[in-house]
Parts: sequence; C-alpha cells; structure tokens
Amino acid sequence: MLDDFSIEQTIAYKTLINSVKNNKCSHAFLLETNGYYKALDLAIAFAKYLLCPNNYSNKEKCKNCNQCNTIDKREFIELKIIEPDGQWIKKSQLDELQSEFSKKSIIGTKKVYIINDAHKLNVSSSNSLLKFLEEPEDGIIAILITENAYQLLNTIVSRCQILSLRPNNIKKEDPLLKKIANELFNDNKKIEEYIIDEHNMENVFHIIDFIKYYEENKELTLLYINKYWNNYFKERDSIYIAFSIMLLFYKDVLNYMLNNDILIFNDQIENLKYVSDKNTIDNIIHKINVIMDLREKIKFNINSNALMDKLIINLEGRK
Ligand SMILES: [Zn+2]
Repeated sequence: MLDDFSIEQTIAYKTLINSVKNNKCSHAFLLETNGYYKALDLAIAFAKYLLCPNNYSNKEKCKNCNQCNTIDKREFIELKIIEPDGQWIKKSQLDELQSEFSKKSIIGTKKVYIINDAHKLNVSSSNSLLKFLEEPEDGIIAILITENAYQLLNTIVSRCQILSLRPNNIKKEDPLLKKIANELFNDNKKIEEYIIDEHNMENVFHIIDFIKYYEENKELTLLYINKYWNNYFKERDSIYIAFSIMLLFYKDVLNYMLNNDILIFNDQIENLKYVSDKNTIDNIIHKINVIMDLREKIKFNINSNALMDKLIINLEGRK
C-alpha cells in the first residue's frame, strides 16, 4: 500500500499522491533508488493507487475493486512489469508491451508499466522506449526504476518526472545485525566482517519480507520465489545464513507467543506479531523443525529451487 511509504519516503510519497489528487500526473516517472531496496514495491503500490477507481492507498481492503484484487493476486492486466531478461531488457519486451497496451482497456481507463533496472535497457530497447515516451497516450503511465538517473539516456530522463528516493536508513553497527552476527559466528573476525557489510542488513529485511509474503500467500510463494528469495540468496553459504536467520526469526515469534523475552528481533515486534497472528504455537514449532532439518541439507549439494520447493511444501505440511 502506498501509505506504507509515507514515512520512509515522505517526499516521493507526497509528490505521487498530490500529482494524482491535483490531476497533474506525469506520463512518466523515474524513481532513482539511491540504493533504496523497496523501490519496486513502491512503484507497484503507486500503480495500485493509480489503477484503483477508489484511489485507495491505505491498509484497509478496497472493496469490490477488480484492479486491487488482480494486483494483489499478481494477475496484472493493466499493470505490466518489465525486468531484464538475462543481462538486458530486450527490444522484444518493449514491442510486446506496446502491442498489449495498444489494445483498448477492458476495465479501467489507465494502464501502468514499470521498468525495473531501467539501466539495463540496451540501445535498441532504449530507442523503442523513447518512441513510446515521445508519443504519450492518455492514461498510460510509465514508472522507470534505476539506481541513478545518469545511468540512462538523457533523452529518456528528460521525459520523466524524477523522484529521488532516500537511501535505506541503515545504521552501521546496527544492534539487530550485531545480535544476529553473534548467533551466526563464533569467530570475532567473522562477526566484524558481517556487521560492516551493509548488504547483510538489507538481506535481513529481505528474509523478513519473504517470511511475511509466505505467511500471507502460502503455496503461492512458490511462484514468486525468484522475486522474494533467489534474487538475494544464491551461494550456498548465503542460503545457509538466510535459513539460520529465518530460524532465529521464528524462534522469536515463538518467544513472542509464549510471552518470553525476545532474543534478537526486539525492534521488529510488529512483524513478530504479524506472523504470530497467523499461526498457532504448534504451527510455529513445526516450522522451526522444518527449517532446521532443511538447513542441514544445504551443507550437501542441494539445488536451490528444489530446496525452496521443499521448504514451502514442508512448512505447509502439517497444521
Ligand atoms: Zn481498489
């Protein structure tokens, strides 16, 4: 929901909301992430806000609105997300978008496309996009996402309203990361190395996002495993660490449910509560066991997709 970003990204949030309220919505936005790792989520939330006839932005369910329902189910009709196909965003992806969007809209009056990692447009796909941007059609809105605007052609940038996002507010030596590092490693050097690498803090949030997505969507998560997991955890070591962090998180959910002291995730009470509300104590104990068992298998050569299939299926295994 767009409102989720009202504090973290106040300026972008207000600009986007006001552009719609004042009927001055650009045909193209460029989100400059500056390393902010939830830019795609923000773009989708904004698309939802645009497409919903009730312009709903808050946490309450939008009633009887087809657009919100399809977006929640990830069955986009009038929202298209383009991501690099391999190393580049290809011209064929832009051509496909153009032909799809040239058809008359069935449901609403607006259509939105998001181009994630827009710096991966190559020469020919950049040119296709440029043509699209040069002749904006009413009701078609583009959201480009890239780390820094200078990575894109000037001719593209000049046609977009640029929104520069605030970098993640990750403090070095975050106490949460420190506690996690102390659980993961015995060796002081390794603990230090782990704490100073900012990616590790981001990864902790990716793991929490994954857990929350899974808790909400259950088996459906298997369809989004690339987006929520494989993009971040590729090497065997990082997968092992991610499982360990998942384990620590579920243990703290259990602590929360049993009114015990929270050991690691003290500053994530909202998220612990979110997961605990969806489970019984037995469920959580079952999940802890499943994650522990599978974590052992990571030490051997297990294919990452097979591992995640097993995880989701086994987590759902017993109620
Ligand atoms: Zn709606």
